Amino acid sequence: MADVLPMGEEYEGFCRDESRTQGTASSISFPTTEDEVRALMRRMAAAGTPVTVQGARTGLAAGAVPRGGHVMSLSRMDRVLGMRADRDAEGRARYYVRAQPGVVLANLRKYLADKSMPTAGWDEGDRRAWEELCAGPAQIFPTDPTETSACLGGIVACNASGARSYAYGPARPHITALRVVLADGDTLALRRGEVCARGRRLDLETERGRRYELALPAYRMPRAKNASGYYAADDMDAIDLFIGSDGTLGIVTEIELALTPAPPVVWGASCFFEAEGPALDFVEAARPELPCALAFEYFDGSALKILRRQKAAGSGFASLPDVGPRAQACVYVELGCPDEEAALAALERLGALLAQNGGDERETWVARTDVDRERLRFFRHAVPESVNMLIDERRRTDPGITKLGSDMAVPDGRLHEVMALYRRTLAEAGLESATWGHIGDNHLHVNVLPRSAAEHARGKELFCGWAAEVTRMGGAVSAEHGVGKLKRDFLEIMYGAEHVRQMARLKLALDPQGLLGRGNLFSEQILDEERGHLQKGEKRGAGAVAGAGEKGAAMGGDGADGEVA
Ligand SMILES: Cc1cc2nc3c(=O)[nH]c(=O)nc-3n(C[C@H](O)[C@H](O)[C@H](O)COP(=O)(O)OP(=O)(O)OC[C@H]3O[C@@H](n4cnc5c(N)ncnc54)[C@H](O)[C@@H]3O)c2cc1C
Repeated sequence: MADVLPMGEEYEGFCRDESRTQGTASSISFPTTEDEVRALMRRMAAAGTPVTVQGARTGLAAGAVPRGGHVMSLSRMDRVLGMRADRDAEGRARYYVRAQPGVVLANLRKYLADKSMPTAGWDEGDRRAWEELCAGPAQIFPTDPTETSACLGGIVACNASGARSYAYGPARPHITALRVVLADGDTLALRRGEVCARGRRLDLETERGRRYELALPAYRMPRAKNASGYYAADDMDAIDLFIGSDGTLGIVTEIELALTPAPPVVWGASCFFEAEGPALDFVEAARPELPCALAFEYFDGSALKILRRQKAAGSGFASLPDVGPRAQACVYVELGCPDEEAALAALERLGALLAQNGGDERETWVARTDVDRERLRFFRHAVPESVNMLIDERRRTDPGITKLGSDMAVPDGRLHEVMALYRRTLAEAGLESATWGHIGDNHLHVNVLPRSAAEHARGKELFCGWAAEVTRMGGAVSAEHGVGKLKRDFLEIMYGAEHVRQMARLKLALDPQGLLGRGNLFSEQILDEERGHLQKGEKRGAGAVAGAGEKGAAMGGDGADGEVA
């Protein structure tokens, strides 16, 4: 079994993620195989020790930040295990990669781009599929959560998205199979299309033959991009319950993901505007007119100002391109086309749309080569990095300050309305902010930049108000970062208290002691209360859970908190 190490100073970084939230833990492990994960979970379950699973800790909702107990870092489960190919009705090949959860996205991309997959230990069939892939057109895993040091397990657990989810959707549709270790060390093998709910009732069977009869929450999910709480829909696929479950239902130990042919020609254009309104008009006009668009990304005037300042300060940002002094908004459009002729036509159309919507073609940066595109990518990544640096600077004078970043999305047709809401309420509250994100999906990260703890508190209040308004517009309170620990209140605003309790009961059916992902999605109070009701055998209405199988009821353990024995 993997060692269970005391949480010494050398592991201090494992108590934080990119949300800059600080947690505590008493021990840590670095398993390398699923068997080790199972053995660790059996040990933790016997001791009643909470377990926080971690990938690369790039999450922004504090999902990987421990609330006591044990940290299980899967960063050393980093092998690509194999691949397979199948063919559709027209004979086109489709490729699927099987990987451990600690595989870093940047590495997977490199293996695919350079055709340099580490295939040692693969069987004959897997190697043949890889050779076939190498002989054909380039393939990609299209999920693109900006931070390429993220791990595949974290990407699955958050149902991550990113810029290109405008064209390809979030991670979910690209995940075809999962292996999951449950809180008691038992395993589920889930393949898309094999196990589906009947209405809102889902029956699962573990590899040891234990059966769970789960009542899925009764809410309707929004029509907008969404990573808020458990996926729940009539007749849904069982695999979708675990994708986006924020480390609360089970530990993903193996992932099969479907690859997609890379678009042959990818060009990018950064379009600058002198005001926000025309930039929004441009996006709304361009979406239906540019069917080959892979992404529409946005940066507001404050984000551009922060970038200019960082560039002037030198440091690692000196190589950023110069942003003109009049630019108050930037929309980055990525085009994926079958050939250069189509790309040129799309670029021409884009120029016309710019002219019609107050942009200036001469102020547009076009990236046609890998080097140019990499520069634009660096530019996009530099925005959140610069804001994080600014917040770190302010924390030195007031440690109560942290960044407040929103992750809300609204359906098409609500973009102007939601932006007007953000602008009006920020001005009323007198708060500084910087906004960027995936405007193609009506999904913007509004970052409040507090100068004091009081402003931080005002910003939090503002976010709660936005959560209510975004819900009213049919949107989602978390569109891609997951709920983790930081957006729990918003989840209740979005779905209501009873639906959150239905989620909690679903979790308790699979994890009766509430060990996994403590503090994610639900407060401990809600979990404790629901556990109390279940232990008393009270009927709890929709969402209540019946566990069945060799050992009888799904409830087990005494629910006590404990540390590693
Ligand atoms: C600069 C920056 C930009 C970003 N931009 C985007 C973006 O555009 N789109 C986007 O979607 N995200 C974005 N993110 C957030 C982040 O990169 C993603 O959420 C990513 O999916 C997290 O992966 P991770 O491996 O770091 O997970 P972690 O942070 O380690 O964990 C995240 C959650 O997943 C759970 N988890 C991790 N591994 C497993 C596992 N194997 N089994 C079960 N649960 C697990 C954890 O318990 C936790 O709840 C950004 C982050 C940064 C720092």
